[in-house]
Amino acid sequence: MTRDELLELYRRSGALLEGHFRLTSGLHSPGYLQCALVLQHPQHAAALGRAIGDRVRDLRPTVVLSPALGGIVIGHEVGRALGVRAIFAERVDGALALRRGFTLAASDRVLVVEDVMTTGGSTRETIEAAKAAGGQVVGTASIVNRGGAAIRFDVPYVSLLEMALPTYEPEVCPLCAQGVPVVKPGSRVVTA
Ligand SMILES: [Zn+2]
Repeated sequence: MTRDELLELYRRSGALLEGHFRLTSGLHSPGYLQCALVLQHPQHAAALGRAIGDRVRDLRPTVVLSPALGGIVIGHEVGRALGVRAIFAERVDGALALRRGFTLAASDRVLVVEDVMTTGGSTRETIEAAKAAGGQVVGTASIVNRGGAAIRFDVPYVSLLEMALPTYEPEVCPLCAQGVPVVKPGSRVVTA
């Protein structure tokens, strides 16, 4: 899947939004990629999973681990493409951890998969959750990298699409300065 094909898929699915958004990271942005609108179509989710799978196969992962909720669908599809388990981490008292009986063995080679990376923060947390559960992390992957070269990990990182939409700390956000209501993507309008 080429970059142009991927962008066309996002546009066609209405997954590329423009406005004034508060991202999960707390940063504000005039653009937002709502991956769920692409991933709601199982055939697109599967195609994206195969595209990531092709690029990470050499890392020989034995399990895919994703942070809930955003990473679950694409993580599952990457797991399907690689023929390995796909599990997820979720918040327990504020920290990401494995629940539901999910386990990692010392021999497990963990690939951490997300939909969108902005700062890499939740991926770092997921890597820590994998280590805490006893696995070894061999790489990370996301459909979209909107943090550009600023995103660095101790393990290889693969993304299908780099899209460096600007992000701002709320205190210096030009859209806030103009009084534009800020929206938490996927929700109704909220106040800053
Ligand atoms: Zn703002």
